[in-house]
Amino acid sequence: MDTHAALFEQGRQRLDALRQLPPRQQASLKDKMLEHGFTRREFMQWSAAVTALLALPLPFSSLVAEAAELADRVPLVWLHLAECTGCSESLTRADTPDLDTLIFDHISLEYHETLMAAAGWQAEENLEHALSEYHGNYLLAVEGAVPTANNGVFLTVGCKGKTGLELVKEAAAGAAAIIAVGTCSSFGGVQAAAPNPTGAKGVHDVIDRTVINLGGCPPSEKNIVGTLMYYVMFGRLPALDMFNRPKWAYGARVHDNCERRGHFDAGEFVEEFSDHNAKDGYCLYKVGCKGPYTYNNCPTERFNGHVSWPVLAGHGCIGCSEPNFWDDMADFEKPLGRQLLHGLDASADTVGAVIIGAAVIGIGAHAVASLFANSKED
Ligand code: SF4
Ligand code: SF4
Repeated sequence: MDTHAALFEQGRQRLDALRQLPPRQQASLKDKMLEHGFTRREFMQWSAAVTALLALPLPFSSLVAEAAELADRVPLVWLHLAECTGCSESLTRADTPDLDTLIFDHISLEYHETLMAAAGWQAEENLEHALSEYHGNYLLAVEGAVPTANNGVFLTVGCKGKTGLELVKEAAAGAAAIIAVGTCSSFGGVQAAAPNPTGAKGVHDVIDRTVINLGGCPPSEKNIVGTLMYYVMFGRLPALDMFNRPKWAYGARVHDNCERRGHFDAGEFVEEFSDHNAKDGYCLYKVGCKGPYTYNNCPTERFNGHVSWPVLAGHGCIGCSEPNFWDDMADFEKPLGRQLLHGLDASADTVGAVIIGAAVIGIGAHAVASLFANSKED
């Protein structure tokens, strides 16, 4: 049996097993789609798009559709640690809720401090109940960094005053799989920027388990929902890169799929945001774009219903899905190559060769390491 046939069979068996479990939502996904005016055709188009996003062959779209319908069989516990809630907001506050948000709504969300109605002791009980009732079976999503200095006292949550550090360790112990949603929970994010007084760290730094890191500030809702769908469908982690990010989402450089790339190669650059080159859509490298150093699918998947993404809108990528981006990618409106090449790219006329050289230096370590990165699975 070839790899795809074996994977399809694995998905089939997983979904058959999930179908035997009782639904945890009162309304089926079909009813919810009807209520929100989505047609079956739109749902099948969504399934095909998620299949392509996950880099799976088109026949898998029937499994994706089934996985979405059965998403309420997989309990999800979502913790908020040191963060701004932007990752949840990016998923749930769309002007026009799309199928991604509807399917997230269909997942069996057992605990989510922003979305649940419960508060205080009742919220605390909900969490304790979810962790014991679904021990070994729930998917844990964590949003926000973990403050670790002084035993984690810089973040306490809930009426029992548990630290974020205690909570994440406790919740991770019984989780079937763990997803760090956003750069803060993946790598520490802005909380971990120098001098990092709270000792903020990514989740993988404080627990002894594989964590899927969905870098991004915030990560796209497609990468969140795609990861959830992959887990519902196969009951395991996807292939991960050297920073434990799913390869299907973070396998390509922003720079390599950017619509301004032709201008980069031709040495045509925006010199300042108000110039004619900016109006003509030239490359943003010289005004700070970090696309050459950043791995994410923003140019291909875009945001807001596939309408646009930061570079198309006119500002360079700031490298938000990379570890330590807050420190390593700053200044966000100056080229990184300037630092790497000790001022060699100061002349606009030398950018072609020099900037490409800078990009190679900057990405070399990652690219080489990616070649040797194993497909990690729990
Ligand atoms: S440097 Fe930025 S704007 Fe220029 S081609 Fe690369 S990603 Fe696009
Ligand atoms: S374009 Fe760059 S900064 Fe913007 S969301 Fe994508 S990875 Fe983050």
